[in-house]
Amino acid sequence: MARVFNFSAGPSMLPESVLSRAAAEMLDYNGSGQSVMEMSHRSKVYEEIIFGAQSLFREVMGIPENYKVLFLQGGASLQFAGIPLNLLNGSGKADYVITGQFANKAYQEARKYGEIKLVASSKAQAFSVIPPLDPADFTPDADYFYICHNNTIFGTKWSQLPQTGNVPLVADISSSFLSEPLDVSRFGLLFGGAQKNIAPAGLTVVIVREDLIGAARPDTPTVIDYKAVAENESMYNTPPCWSIYICRLVLEWIKQLGGLEAVKQRNDYKAKLLYDYLDSSAMFRNPVVPEFRSIMNVTFVAGNEELNAAFVKEAAAAGFVNLKGHRSVGGMRASIYNAMPVEGVEALVEFMRAFEAKNS
Ligand SMILES: *Cc1c(COP(=O)(O)O)cnc(C)c1O
Repeated sequence: MARVFNFSAGPSMLPESVLSRAAAEMLDYNGSGQSVMEMSHRSKVYEEIIFGAQSLFREVMGIPENYKVLFLQGGASLQFAGIPLNLLNGSGKADYVITGQFANKAYQEARKYGEIKLVASSKAQAFSVIPPLDPADFTPDADYFYICHNNTIFGTKWSQLPQTGNVPLVADISSSFLSEPLDVSRFGLLFGGAQKNIAPAGLTVVIVREDLIGAARPDTPTVIDYKAVAENESMYNTPPCWSIYICRLVLEWIKQLGGLEAVKQRNDYKAKLLYDYLDSSAMFRNPVVPEFRSIMNVTFVAGNEELNAAFVKEAAAAGFVNLKGHRSVGGMRASIYNAMPVEGVEALVEFMRAFEAKNS
């Protein structure tokens, strides 16, 4: 068996120990005589899995008591509608900052439901920065203020969170989930799809402050009404059982690594290896203003389209797969989520060095 180094932006690598454990438990989970894939979600044996995952989430992220952890389906994209449906219930206004494609999608979706203000955008800078904000532009009576914490496609991340006062801050953390400690109390709501850093596709995690639950618009579909989901312990309908099981194994793995502080150190180290090389290279270049560089998604170009294409092709042949940039931006992108081992990044940098030497 030869495993490659998979730099996919999502679905992406999972820790090998998690995959091995899932394989070992595939036919008979914990003496139940069933695979987790086959279990009733209402069974005692499954309840232990889903409640275990929720309480590990609370423990690993240090989630305060007055927040709920909800397991949903429909991807992060469904929450682009779920958030306005649940939260646009006071003034009907919200502020959005557009820092990339997913923030823009969220903004466009929210506009179906209320008076949405585009507070700032970094489109003119090709999303290579997080735009400066002027609090004078904020809507004082907004129901919430929306950001995308880590921009998966462009490789940028907020270096400082906006100060929104009493207006709840809402953040899409799909691609930065569990990558570093986060002060949950700074947010009204955090959400993300699991397939970047938590589990296989199918699970969406929403962490929401309790006082924001319970005033959804009457036409909100019940499966995304946070009140119904919370009251039914994320089992209003069938949850994504398998993905939640893997999520629990991943959280246990994070605990073994030493928690999110240790995970952050490891992620910072991996990202620095790659950025240091990119900054020293005469061929490769990262387009992001350093202050806003993501530690999860590292974008780069080789100088021209032919070199980019040759690099992606040769890298794949050498076992470094999914390095092609998003179809909307081109170039390359190395997604180095939690499960990417340090050796994977070291080997990639070695490969890039050799490619540069050969082609210059
Ligand atoms: C991948 C991604 C999404 C889309 O997630 P889906 O689960 O496919 O809907 C949204 N936001 C960010 C930041 C992402 O990285």
